[in-house]
Amino acid sequence: MSTTTTPAPTGSNDAAAVPTTTAATPSAALGPLDDARAQLAFAVDHLGLDSGMHQLLATPRRELTVSVPLRRDDGSTALFIGHRVQHNFSRGPAKGGLRFSPNVDLDEVRALAMWMTWKCALVDVPYGGAKGGIAIDPRQHSLAELERVTRRYTSEIMPLIGPEQDIPAPDIGTDERTMAWMMDTYSVNVGHTVPGVVTGKPLSLGGSLGRASATSRGVAHVAVLAMRHRGLDPAASTAAVQGFGKVGRDGARLLAEAGVGIRAVSDVYGAVHRAEGLDVAALIEHVDATGSVLGFAGGEEIDGAALLELDVDTLVPAAVEGVITEANAERVAARIVVEGANGPTTEAADAILRERDVLVVPDILANAGGVIVSYFEWVQANQAYWWSEDEVNEKLAERMTKAWDAVLGYATSNGQSMREAATCLAVARVTEAHKLRGLYP
Ligand code: NAD
Repeated sequence: MSTTTTPAPTGSNDAAAVPTTTAATPSAALGPLDDARAQLAFAVDHLGLDSGMHQLLATPRRELTVSVPLRRDDGSTALFIGHRVQHNFSRGPAKGGLRFSPNVDLDEVRALAMWMTWKCALVDVPYGGAKGGIAIDPRQHSLAELERVTRRYTSEIMPLIGPEQDIPAPDIGTDERTMAWMMDTYSVNVGHTVPGVVTGKPLSLGGSLGRASATSRGVAHVAVLAMRHRGLDPAASTAAVQGFGKVGRDGARLLAEAGVGIRAVSDVYGAVHRAEGLDVAALIEHVDATGSVLGFAGGEEIDGAALLELDVDTLVPAAVEGVITEANAERVAARIVVEGANGPTTEAADAILRERDVLVVPDILANAGGVIVSYFEWVQANQAYWWSEDEVNEKLAERMTKAWDAVLGYATSNGQSMREAATCLAVARVTEAHKLRGLYP
């Protein structure tokens, strides 16, 4: 990767945030948007795209920032800031999660929206990329407050969303209940029920069997493919999983079901470790009862950051972005990193891991199972015809394997990392769509 700063693409409404920086800038100043832009710059260079196309691909099509006032349970008022960014919709409606986290900011949402564009193109679902978020800590609010926040935010971004425009789904801090409130708010406002406005809905409202665990299932599927590729027998291998939410918990469970010894898992409160392997089913019961992995009798507590450096075969970061950095990448002992989270590895860390011959299965491939089954949910809802869970899981595995083969093949023939190959394949598909559609007017 070069260490240059490429010129700012024009056309953004936030010129200060646009320059595509790489390793020349001190890493403290870099965030997920810098990583996303550096990855795009690599693909643009490799594919020989011109600067006009680079600008178009680097710049979100639409961004909306909204105030979300909340009437709190005690009668006082609080105000939160929310965003919805549609990065690209050349291949279909925009698609992407909704995040509730105190760390949400516009640049993070822009990065996540760009990654969604590449992810949808890579696994060939007919969507562009979007992302939304509210800077709020859901743990500090009652269910009633979260419902009011969700409904007010949905009503503020109403002009942008819809089954043919932009379809939100759960992400950090949100779940199927959040999607039910969004669907209801949208439907009440348009005057009829519109199940296709969100995915990741409860089953009884038109959700798909297999959606809740789809991201995790895809993560476990490519993790096993990566282990075999590296000559490891999954049943004789070990893993650590960072994050024990919607992605990490079922990811750990499915890996354990494949015979992988789960040595450690963590959540925002800390980590638990057991050298002989954790009993993941018992840990899930413990987390359901207590809300955290801490205090689990079947393992000893370790520092959350130490989990990333444990001597395991496979590391699955499935929490937040920017956790494997140039400060700890040298100490990552795993030989395979499967990115359950979006953007867990910074650009600088990625280069270090590559140098050390660690196989990194990039987020846009590894965690694409969620959007694949969201697409299945949308297809089923449009046809009002529902598939069995086995059918969903089978079709998911087929698509994940196809994407894995394509990325591995491209990486091998071009001497690239899996991330570089995945980004190039995806950017080429989005570019082709732009070229075929032409430029209006
Ligand atoms: P979630 O809110 O359900 O779970 C997040 C988990 O990470 C929680 O266990 C939380 O305690 C933990 N966590 C937060 N900060 C942490 C830290 N610093 N160290 C250790 N653990 C920490 O969210 P999720 O839906 O599981 O999403 C996790 C990641 O996967 C995000 O990057 C998200 O964008 C990505 N992702 C999610 C989906 C999906 O379908 N939910 C799909 C694709 C990608």
